[in-house]
Amino acid sequence: MNDYENEMSYEDRILETTYTAEDSETEFSLRPRTLDEYIGQEKAKEILKIYIDAVKMRGDTLDHVLLYGPPGLGKTTLSAIIAAELGVNFRVTSGPAIEKQGDLAALLTNLGQGDVLFIDEIHRLNRNVEEILYPAMEDFALDIIIGKGPAARSIRLPLQRFTLIGATTRAGQLTTPLRDRFGVLLRLELYSPRELAQIVIRSAGILEIPITEEGALEIASRSRGTPRIANRLLKRVRDYAQVKGDGHITLESASAALHMLEIDELGLDNTDRRMLETIIHFYNGGPVGLETLSATIGEEAITLEDVYEPYLMQIGFISRTPRGRCVTKLAYEHLGIPYRPDSDASSNQISIEE
Ligand code: ADP
Repeated sequence: MNDYENEMSYEDRILETTYTAEDSETEFSLRPRTLDEYIGQEKAKEILKIYIDAVKMRGDTLDHVLLYGPPGLGKTTLSAIIAAELGVNFRVTSGPAIEKQGDLAALLTNLGQGDVLFIDEIHRLNRNVEEILYPAMEDFALDIIIGKGPAARSIRLPLQRFTLIGATTRAGQLTTPLRDRFGVLLRLELYSPRELAQIVIRSAGILEIPITEEGALEIASRSRGTPRIANRLLKRVRDYAQVKGDGHITLESASAALHMLEIDELGLDNTDRRMLETIIHFYNGGPVGLETLSATIGEEAITLEDVYEPYLMQIGFISRTPRGRCVTKLAYEHLGIPYRPDSDASSNQISIEE
Protein backbone atom coordinates (compact mmCIF):
# COMPACT_ATOMS: atom_id res chain seq x y z
CA MET A 1 0.00 0.00 0.00
CA ASN A 2 1.44 3.40 -0.85
CA ASP A 3 1.45 6.45 1.39
CA TYR A 4 -1.58 7.98 -0.23
CA GLU A 5 -3.71 4.89 0.33
CA ASN A 6 -2.46 4.66 3.87
CA GLU A 7 -3.54 8.17 4.50
CA MET A 8 -6.95 7.53 3.00
CA SER A 9 -7.71 4.53 5.13
CA TYR A 10 -6.53 6.35 8.25
CA GLU A 11 -8.60 9.48 7.53
CA ASP A 12 -11.73 7.57 6.63
CA ARG A 13 -11.86 5.79 9.92
CA ILE A 14 -14.85 6.80 12.03
CA LEU A 15 -13.00 5.76 15.15
CA GLU A 16 -10.04 7.94 14.23
CA THR A 17 -8.77 9.60 17.39
CA THR A 18 -7.05 12.55 15.76
CA TYR A 19 -8.83 15.66 14.55
CA THR A 20 -10.56 15.35 11.15
CA ALA A 21 -12.61 17.71 8.98
CA GLU A 22 -15.78 16.04 10.26
CA ASP A 23 -15.09 17.41 13.74
CA SER A 24 -14.62 21.01 12.72
CA GLU A 25 -18.24 22.18 12.51
CA THR A 26 -18.97 21.37 16.18
CA GLU A 27 -15.45 21.59 17.61
CA PHE A 28 -15.91 25.08 18.97
CA SER A 29 -19.31 24.66 20.56
CA LEU A 30 -18.55 21.32 22.20
CA ARG A 31 -15.33 22.33 23.93
CA PRO A 32 -15.68 22.73 27.67
CA ARG A 33 -14.51 26.18 28.81
CA THR A 34 -13.87 25.71 32.53
CA LEU A 35 -12.31 23.06 34.75
CA ASP A 36 -15.75 22.30 36.18
CA GLU A 37 -17.19 21.65 32.73
CA TYR A 38 -14.25 19.40 31.88
CA ILE A 39 -15.45 15.90 32.70
CA GLY A 40 -13.16 13.17 34.08
CA GLN A 41 -9.35 13.26 34.48
CA GLU A 42 -9.94 13.90 38.17
CA LYS A 43 -6.31 13.43 39.16
CA ALA A 44 -4.97 15.88 36.61
CA LYS A 45 -7.70 18.39 37.44
CA GLU A 46 -7.05 18.21 41.16
CA ILE A 47 -3.34 18.87 40.68
CA LEU A 48 -3.98 21.69 38.24
CA LYS A 49 -6.56 23.34 40.50
CA ILE A 50 -4.00 23.56 43.31
CA TYR A 51 -1.32 25.03 41.05
CA ILE A 52 -3.70 27.49 39.43
CA ASP A 53 -5.00 28.70 42.80
CA ALA A 54 -1.49 29.05 44.18
CA VAL A 55 -0.31 31.00 41.12
CA LYS A 56 -3.32 33.30 41.36
CA MET A 57 -2.72 33.91 45.08
CA ARG A 58 0.92 34.78 44.53
CA GLY A 59 0.33 36.68 41.30
CA ASP A 60 2.95 34.38 39.80
CA THR A 61 3.33 32.47 36.51
CA LEU A 62 2.37 28.80 36.21
CA ASP A 63 5.27 26.37 35.83
CA HIS A 64 5.66 24.71 32.40
CA VAL A 65 3.28 21.77 31.96
CA LEU A 66 3.69 18.62 29.87
CA LEU A 67 0.46 16.78 29.05
CA TYR A 68 0.80 13.32 27.57
CA GLY A 69 -1.54 10.57 26.48
CA PRO A 70 -3.25 9.23 23.35
CA PRO A 71 -4.90 11.64 20.86
CA GLY A 72 -8.44 12.93 21.39
CA LEU A 73 -8.37 12.81 25.21
CA GLY A 74 -8.60 16.56 25.72
CA LYS A 75 -5.03 17.89 25.92
CA THR A 76 -5.74 20.97 23.79
CA THR A 77 -9.04 21.56 25.56
CA LEU A 78 -7.44 21.31 28.99
CA SER A 79 -4.65 23.70 28.00
CA ALA A 80 -7.14 26.33 26.80
CA ILE A 81 -9.00 25.91 30.09
CA ILE A 82 -5.79 26.44 32.08
CA ALA A 83 -5.19 29.73 30.25
CA ALA A 84 -8.82 30.79 30.75
CA GLU A 85 -8.71 29.94 34.47
CA LEU A 86 -5.52 31.96 34.81
CA GLY A 87 -7.06 34.81 32.84
CA VAL A 88 -4.20 34.98 30.32
CA ASN A 89 -3.88 34.73 26.53
CA PHE A 90 -3.67 31.32 24.87
CA ARG A 91 -1.43 30.89 21.82
CA VAL A 92 -1.46 27.64 19.88
CA THR A 93 1.13 26.06 17.64
CA SER A 94 2.52 22.59 16.98
CA GLY A 95 5.93 20.96 16.76
CA PRO A 96 5.86 20.29 13.02
CA ALA A 97 4.55 23.83 12.25
CA ILE A 98 7.66 25.50 13.66
CA GLU A 99 10.28 25.08 10.96
CA LYS A 100 12.93 27.62 11.87
CA GLN A 101 14.35 29.10 15.06
CA GLY A 102 13.00 32.47 13.90
CA ASP A 103 9.40 31.14 13.84
CA LEU A 104 9.61 30.19 17.48
CA ALA A 105 11.46 33.38 18.42
CA ALA A 106 8.64 35.42 16.87
CA LEU A 107 6.04 33.52 18.88
CA LEU A 108 7.98 33.88 22.11
CA THR A 109 8.68 37.59 21.80
CA ASN A 110 4.97 38.25 21.26
CA LEU A 111 3.91 36.61 24.52
CA GLY A 112 2.69 38.83 27.34
CA GLN A 113 3.32 38.35 31.04
CA GLY A 114 1.90 34.97 32.20
CA ASP A 115 0.56 33.98 28.75
CA VAL A 116 0.24 30.32 27.81
CA LEU A 117 2.01 29.02 24.71
CA PHE A 118 0.64 25.63 23.71
CA ILE A 119 2.83 23.41 21.53
CA ASP A 120 0.99 20.33 20.30
CA GLU A 121 3.04 17.30 19.23
CA ILE A 122 6.02 18.79 20.97
CA HIS A 123 8.02 15.59 20.41
CA ARG A 124 8.14 16.53 16.71
CA LEU A 125 10.01 19.81 17.26
CA ASN A 126 13.09 20.11 15.17
CA ARG A 127 16.24 19.82 17.37
CA ASN A 128 17.57 23.12 16.15
CA VAL A 129 14.39 24.88 17.19
CA GLU A 130 14.24 22.98 20.45
CA GLU A 131 17.56 24.45 21.53
CA ILE A 132 16.19 27.97 21.74
CA LEU A 133 13.41 26.70 23.98
CA TYR A 134 15.86 25.72 26.73
CA PRO A 135 16.92 29.26 27.81
CA ALA A 136 13.40 30.51 27.04
CA MET A 137 11.85 28.02 29.45
CA GLU A 138 14.54 28.25 32.09
CA ASP A 139 15.62 31.89 32.14
CA PHE A 140 12.88 33.55 30.05
CA ALA A 141 15.49 34.71 27.58
CA LEU A 142 16.33 34.25 23.92
CA ASP A 143 19.95 33.71 22.92
CA ILE A 144 20.47 35.14 19.47
CA ILE A 145 23.61 34.85 17.38
CA ILE A 146 24.40 37.96 15.37
CA GLY A 147 26.79 37.83 12.43
CA LYS A 148 28.83 34.98 11.03
CA GLY A 149 32.31 33.49 11.47
CA PRO A 150 34.80 35.03 13.90
CA ALA A 151 32.75 38.24 14.22
CA ALA A 152 29.65 36.36 15.39
CA ARG A 153 28.48 37.14 18.88
CA SER A 154 25.61 36.07 21.02
CA ILE A 155 23.18 38.47 22.63
CA ARG A 156 20.52 37.67 25.16
CA LEU A 157 17.02 39.11 24.76
CA PRO A 158 14.74 39.04 27.78
CA LEU A 159 11.24 37.56 27.40
CA GLN A 160 8.14 37.97 29.54
CA ARG A 161 7.60 35.15 32.03
CA PHE A 162 5.27 32.73 30.26
CA THR A 163 3.93 29.19 30.63
CA LEU A 164 4.70 26.58 28.03
CA ILE A 165 2.22 23.74 27.79
CA GLY A 166 3.52 20.90 25.68
CA ALA A 167 1.28 18.07 24.50
CA THR A 168 2.53 14.76 23.24
CA THR A 169 1.29 11.28 22.55
CA ARG A 170 4.72 9.94 23.39
CA ALA A 171 6.53 11.39 26.37
CA GLY A 172 9.31 8.86 25.85
CA GLN A 173 10.32 10.56 22.60
CA LEU A 174 11.08 13.90 24.22
CA THR A 175 14.75 14.63 24.70
CA THR A 176 15.87 14.63 28.33
CA PRO A 177 16.85 18.34 28.39
CA LEU A 178 13.39 19.29 27.17
CA ARG A 179 11.51 16.94 29.47
CA ASP A 180 13.52 18.12 32.47
CA ARG A 181 12.42 21.70 31.92
CA PHE A 182 8.76 20.93 32.59
CA GLY A 183 7.81 21.40 36.24
CA VAL A 184 4.46 19.61 35.95
CA LEU A 185 4.04 16.33 34.09
CA LEU A 186 0.49 15.08 33.72
CA ARG A 187 -0.67 11.92 32.06
CA LEU A 188 -4.20 11.90 30.65
CA GLU A 189 -5.96 8.55 30.89
CA LEU A 190 -8.60 6.92 28.68
CA TYR A 191 -12.08 7.78 30.01
CA SER A 192 -14.48 5.31 31.59
CA PRO A 193 -17.82 4.64 29.81
CA ARG A 194 -19.60 6.54 32.63
CA GLU A 195 -17.50 9.65 32.08
CA LEU A 196 -17.94 9.41 28.32
CA ALA A 197 -21.69 9.07 28.78
CA GLN A 198 -21.65 12.38 30.70
CA ILE A 199 -19.71 13.96 27.83
CA VAL A 200 -22.22 12.56 25.30
CA ILE A 201 -25.16 13.91 27.31
CA ARG A 202 -23.49 17.32 27.61
CA SER A 203 -22.75 17.44 23.86
CA ALA A 204 -26.28 16.24 22.99
CA GLY A 205 -27.63 19.10 25.11
CA ILE A 206 -25.53 21.65 23.22
CA LEU A 207 -26.47 20.20 19.82
CA GLU A 208 -30.12 19.85 20.91
CA ILE A 209 -30.29 16.13 20.27
CA PRO A 210 -32.85 14.24 22.40
CA ILE A 211 -31.10 11.29 24.03
CA THR A 212 -31.81 8.80 26.81
CA GLU A 213 -29.22 7.82 29.41
CA GLU A 214 -29.07 4.28 27.99
CA GLY A 215 -28.54 5.68 24.50
CA ALA A 216 -25.67 7.82 25.78
CA LEU A 217 -24.10 4.88 27.60
CA GLU A 218 -24.35 2.75 24.48
CA ILE A 219 -22.42 5.35 22.47
CA ALA A 220 -19.98 5.87 25.35
CA SER A 221 -19.14 2.22 25.74
CA ARG A 222 -18.19 1.99 22.08
CA SER A 223 -16.03 5.12 22.01
CA ARG A 224 -12.67 3.59 22.99
CA GLY A 225 -12.26 5.76 26.05
CA THR A 226 -11.92 8.87 23.84
CA PRO A 227 -14.14 12.00 23.98
CA ARG A 228 -13.37 12.95 20.39
CA ILE A 229 -14.76 9.61 19.20
CA ALA A 230 -17.76 9.86 21.55
CA ASN A 231 -18.73 13.24 20.05
CA ARG A 232 -18.27 11.93 16.52
CA LEU A 233 -20.36 8.81 17.11
CA LEU A 234 -23.06 10.95 18.71
CA LYS A 235 -23.39 12.91 15.45
CA ARG A 236 -23.45 9.75 13.32
CA VAL A 237 -26.09 8.17 15.53
CA ARG A 238 -28.15 11.37 15.39
CA ASP A 239 -28.16 11.19 11.58
CA TYR A 240 -29.32 7.59 11.72
CA ALA A 241 -32.00 8.32 14.31
CA GLN A 242 -33.31 11.20 12.20
CA VAL A 243 -33.47 9.23 8.97
CA LYS A 244 -34.68 5.91 10.36
CA GLY A 245 -36.71 7.05 13.35
CA ASP A 246 -38.10 10.09 15.12
CA GLY A 247 -34.70 11.62 15.86
CA HIS A 248 -34.53 10.40 19.46
CA ILE A 249 -31.41 8.55 20.49
CA THR A 250 -32.34 5.53 22.58
CA LEU A 251 -30.55 2.29 23.37
CA GLU A 252 -32.18 0.69 20.32
CA SER A 253 -31.46 3.43 17.81
CA ALA A 254 -27.89 3.85 19.09
CA SER A 255 -27.11 0.18 18.88
CA ALA A 256 -28.71 -0.19 15.43
CA ALA A 257 -26.71 2.79 14.12
CA LEU A 258 -23.45 1.50 15.56
CA HIS A 259 -24.16 -1.94 14.13
CA MET A 260 -24.61 -0.35 10.71
CA LEU A 261 -21.28 1.46 11.16
CA GLU A 262 -19.69 -1.93 11.96
CA ILE A 263 -18.54 -0.81 15.37
CA ASP A 264 -18.94 -3.69 17.77
CA GLU A 265 -20.08 -3.60 21.38
CA LEU A 266 -16.55 -2.93 22.60
CA GLY A 267 -15.95 -0.14 20.11
CA LEU A 268 -13.73 -2.15 17.77
CA ASP A 269 -14.00 -1.47 14.07
CA ASN A 270 -12.78 -3.40 11.03
CA THR A 271 -9.24 -2.11 11.34
CA ASP A 272 -8.91 -3.31 14.92
CA ARG A 273 -10.32 -6.68 14.00
CA ARG A 274 -7.98 -6.89 11.01
CA MET A 275 -5.01 -6.12 13.24
CA LEU A 276 -5.97 -8.78 15.78
CA GLU A 277 -6.82 -11.37 13.11
CA THR A 278 -3.53 -10.73 11.31
CA ILE A 279 -1.57 -11.42 14.48
CA ILE A 280 -3.65 -14.54 15.09
CA HIS A 281 -3.63 -15.99 11.59
CA PHE A 282 -0.20 -14.93 10.31
CA TYR A 283 1.78 -14.95 13.53
CA ASN A 284 -0.06 -17.49 15.61
CA GLY A 285 -1.16 -14.88 18.11
CA GLY A 286 2.30 -13.33 18.44
CA PRO A 287 4.74 -12.20 19.53
CA VAL A 288 5.22 -10.10 16.43
CA GLY A 289 7.33 -6.95 16.10
CA LEU A 290 5.56 -3.67 15.44
CA GLU A 291 7.38 -3.03 12.14
CA THR A 292 6.59 -6.51 10.86
CA LEU A 293 2.93 -6.07 11.75
CA SER A 294 2.86 -2.66 10.15
CA ALA A 295 4.26 -4.07 6.89
CA THR A 296 1.72 -6.90 6.90
CA ILE A 297 -1.38 -4.78 7.39
CA GLY A 298 -0.23 -1.67 5.56
CA GLU A 299 -0.63 0.86 8.38
CA GLU A 300 2.23 2.97 9.69
CA ALA A 301 3.88 1.61 12.82
CA ILE A 302 3.42 4.95 14.57
CA THR A 303 -0.33 4.87 13.83
CA LEU A 304 -0.66 1.36 15.18
CA GLU A 305 1.19 2.35 18.31
CA ASP A 306 -0.52 5.69 19.02
CA VAL A 307 -4.02 5.13 17.73
CA TYR A 308 -4.93 1.44 17.83
CA GLU A 309 -2.85 -0.08 20.57
CA PRO A 310 -3.69 2.05 23.62
CA TYR A 311 -7.30 0.95 23.59
CA LEU A 312 -6.61 -2.67 22.65
CA MET A 313 -4.17 -2.80 25.54
CA GLN A 314 -6.57 -1.07 27.92
CA ILE A 315 -9.26 -3.70 27.28
CA GLY A 316 -6.68 -6.45 27.61
CA PHE A 317 -6.72 -7.67 23.99
CA ILE A 318 -3.06 -7.05 23.26
CA SER A 319 -0.06 -7.39 25.49
CA ARG A 320 3.38 -5.98 24.83
CA THR A 321 6.30 -8.28 25.48
CA PRO A 322 9.99 -7.62 24.90
CA ARG A 323 9.71 -9.76 21.75
CA GLY A 324 6.67 -8.00 20.30
CA ARG A 325 2.89 -7.83 20.50
CA CYS A 326 0.73 -10.79 21.54
CA VAL A 327 -3.03 -11.22 21.21
CA THR A 328 -4.60 -12.42 24.47
CA LYS A 329 -7.14 -15.17 25.07
CA LEU A 330 -9.80 -12.51 25.71
CA ALA A 331 -9.44 -11.21 22.16
CA TYR A 332 -9.72 -14.73 20.68
CA GLU A 333 -12.95 -15.17 22.62
CA HIS A 334 -14.29 -11.83 21.45
CA LEU A 335 -13.53 -12.68 17.82
CA GLY A 336 -14.92 -16.20 18.20
CA ILE A 337 -11.63 -17.83 17.24
CA PRO A 338 -10.59 -20.97 19.18
CA TYR A 339 -7.61 -20.24 21.44
CA ARG A 340 -4.81 -22.72 20.78
CA PRO A 341 -1.53 -21.26 21.94
CA ASP A 342 1.34 -22.99 20.20
CA SER A 343 4.49 -22.05 22.00
CA ASP A 344 6.76 -23.80 19.46
CA ALA A 345 5.40 -21.84 16.54
CA SER A 346 5.56 -18.53 18.36
CA SER A 347 9.12 -19.06 19.53
CA ASN A 348 10.16 -19.66 15.93
CA GLN A 349 8.60 -16.40 14.90
CA ILE A 350 11.01 -14.11 13.11
CA SER A 351 10.63 -10.45 13.81
CA ILE A 352 12.39 -7.75 11.79
CA GLU A 353 12.87 -5.41 14.72
CA GLU A 354 12.82 -5.03 18.50
P1 ADP B 1 -6.28 16.26 22.17
O1 ADP B 1 -5.67 17.64 22.17
O2 ADP B 1 -5.84 15.43 23.34
O3 ADP B 1 -6.12 15.52 20.86
P2 ADP B 1 -8.81 17.73 22.27
O4 ADP B 1 -8.54 18.65 23.40
O5 ADP B 1 -8.74 18.30 20.90
O6 ADP B 1 -7.87 16.44 22.37
O7 ADP B 1 -10.26 17.07 22.55
C1 ADP B 1 -11.02 16.45 21.55
C2 ADP B 1 -12.49 16.81 21.69
O8 ADP B 1 -13.04 16.08 22.79
C3 ADP B 1 -12.74 18.28 21.99
O9 ADP B 1 -13.40 18.84 20.92
C4 ADP B 1 -13.65 18.34 23.19
O10 ADP B 1 -14.93 18.81 22.78
C5 ADP B 1 -13.83 16.92 23.64
N1 ADP B 1 -13.33 16.74 25.01
C6 ADP B 1 -12.08 16.38 25.36
N2 ADP B 1 -11.96 16.24 26.69
C7 ADP B 1 -13.18 16.50 27.21
C8 ADP B 1 -13.70 16.50 28.55
N3 ADP B 1 -12.94 16.16 29.58
N4 ADP B 1 -14.98 16.84 28.72
C9 ADP B 1 -15.76 17.14 27.65
N5 ADP B 1 -15.33 17.14 26.37
C10 ADP B 1 -14.06 16.83 26.14
